[in-house]
Amino acid sequence: MQSLWNDKEALAFLGHPLKERVYTSRLLGKSTNLVLHGGGNTSVKAQVQNLFGEQEKVLYVKGSGWDLATIEEAGFPAVKLDTLLRLAQLEQLSDTDMVRMQKSAMLDPSAPNPSVEAILHAIIPFTFVDHTHADAIVTLSNTPDGEARLRDLFGNRVLFVPYVMPGFVLAKKVRHLIRDIDWSNLEGMVLLHHGVFTFADDAKTSYERMINLVTCAEDYLEEHSASAKRTLNPGLPQVFDPIKLAEIRSRISTVRGKAMVATLDTTDSARAFSLLNNVDTISNRGPLTPDHVIRTKRIPAIIDHDIDQAITDFTQNYHHYFDKHNPGNLTCLDPAPRWAVWKNHGIISFGDTVNDATIVSDIKDHTIACIQTAEAMGGWRVPSQQDIFDVEYWELEQSKLNKQKSLPVFEGKVALVTGAASGIGKACALSLRQQGAAVIALDIAEQITHLSASHDAPDNNLLGIKCDVTNIDDINQALAMGVKQFGGIDILVSNAGIFPLSETIAEMDPGTWDKSLNVNLTSHQQMLKACIPFLQLGIDPAVVIIASKNVPAPGPGAAAYSVAKAGLTQLGRVAALELAGSKIRVNMLHPNAVFDTGIWTEETLAKRAGHYGLSVEEYKTRNLLQVEVTSNDVANLACALAGPLFAKATGLQIPIDGGNERVI
Ligand code: ZN
Repeated sequence: MQSLWNDKEALAFLGHPLKERVYTSRLLGKSTNLVLHGGGNTSVKAQVQNLFGEQEKVLYVKGSGWDLATIEEAGFPAVKLDTLLRLAQLEQLSDTDMVRMQKSAMLDPSAPNPSVEAILHAIIPFTFVDHTHADAIVTLSNTPDGEARLRDLFGNRVLFVPYVMPGFVLAKKVRHLIRDIDWSNLEGMVLLHHGVFTFADDAKTSYERMINLVTCAEDYLEEHSASAKRTLNPGLPQVFDPIKLAEIRSRISTVRGKAMVATLDTTDSARAFSLLNNVDTISNRGPLTPDHVIRTKRIPAIIDHDIDQAITDFTQNYHHYFDKHNPGNLTCLDPAPRWAVWKNHGIISFGDTVNDATIVSDIKDHTIACIQTAEAMGGWRVPSQQDIFDVEYWELEQSKLNKQKSLPVFEGKVALVTGAASGIGKACALSLRQQGAAVIALDIAEQITHLSASHDAPDNNLLGIKCDVTNIDDINQALAMGVKQFGGIDILVSNAGIFPLSETIAEMDPGTWDKSLNVNLTSHQQMLKACIPFLQLGIDPAVVIIASKNVPAPGPGAAAYSVAKAGLTQLGRVAALELAGSKIRVNMLHPNAVFDTGIWTEETLAKRAGHYGLSVEEYKTRNLLQVEVTSNDVANLACALAGPLFAKATGLQIPIDGGNERVI
């Protein structure tokens, strides 16, 4: 592992301890082999002047909710060092009281909560303290004679701390261990099965000691675990049945009690792991470090041919584990796995949100690599079930359960929107995403692959796929891609459409007629047909069809469009009848005069308005309520139809047109 310290960059921060702290914290955060998603913490001790003009010693320590990779000065709350040192002297302190006391000792009460390892940072008598959960060191300690190997490797350079739970108990343990210690030869501390600390009076030394210790462990592993390097037989075909994945997600969501996103990883390393003969036994021992249990639960589910049996086994096991370790006063968490080894297929990660599933997926990448390395060195050994249970059921985690938070309405749900690159489709995709859904957004236009809720960043809740909805192969391919990414389909917004040139029946070009029917009608039937098996496995599934005001109130010159939309409405009505048995709701919207779409440019608007002798403004608001109807208005109603508000309604046709005499 290379040191990323750069003298030139660091020069700008020299003499500013907090700025230096931010700099090297970010260097640590850059390596996922050191810390993952908010793991690890760092601190610096400094003198500050308080409001009374007095000098005060404080510990700037990583605040909760911050990630080392992106941390800023604001991510380091200042805590009075004196209070932390006094807390360290207590014989007993609950973690709830510890958090409360740490909070009361903060210079700025509105800063984020200090790390639960703040007291431990405080008692280490060096200015800079760095703490990571380095894979190499934790893996080495997770082998049968791990501690002995680490002692051989590091000698007296580090202090060894047996595994105890993070928080006050760990701080107290370390306080006892360092009572008569000579710090002068120490570079760090190895926390068995947990991680590593390094320290020094300057930022560079503390950081480079971390890199150095971890590199030693990495080199050792490289030398001693050559047989861990498994490669996948390249001739092996990729097997993936998206319906089976949707079935797995459906069962897991039921166990969880809410919709969950599921992401299938079929990369070589994930598939190779799922193909191991002993995958059952090496997966069921426990996580890389107990910290991960909050994200991943203790072990993954193992799924083979019988999905129901696998999930029943997992949940029964989970309840046994809870009953065995529950002292009597704890609330059982949901028994749904957060990842699953799907034999011969790969690994599935589950999450309440796409972000949660991504974090689980990253953790499992490191976990499976470390398990295989440790297996090559005698076996994967982790702390006892009780130790892992104690972290999972930590009092601070349990107290979060009582705080009901309101969830976005579509959290964990997956929506598919067609014609999503512009206009109503794009508005629907973004509204669903904003309300918590993961969205598979299809369009024939290339720009769909760049669809994002923010202008400058890709958005992992939106999967834009170029797809010609009149082509059944394209549809099937897009569904497989979408389901692999998010696990299923709960909501279909069938929107793709074209508005053909105005032609009377007498002058109708057969091509105009055929194309309109093909895109505006037949493609919807094909898409719906392809989605039905997924919707049947969906969570509170719903279909929203974007039809047209032309259905109840057609106009001359638009037969090709109106007939197709009327057919589409009839398709929706029949679908509502046919799919009610599967609890799939099918409702239709009839928008009119939505001008903020791709087909309406300023120029065409002005031309049309002129044709009626109206201003553009008058033309846009030509309805009973005299209001402009926008893509967002239609999208909001589409979301309502797909959500709980219309949970008991199917077969509806709702005009969204500002009021129209002919429709009323
Ligand atoms: Zn830690």
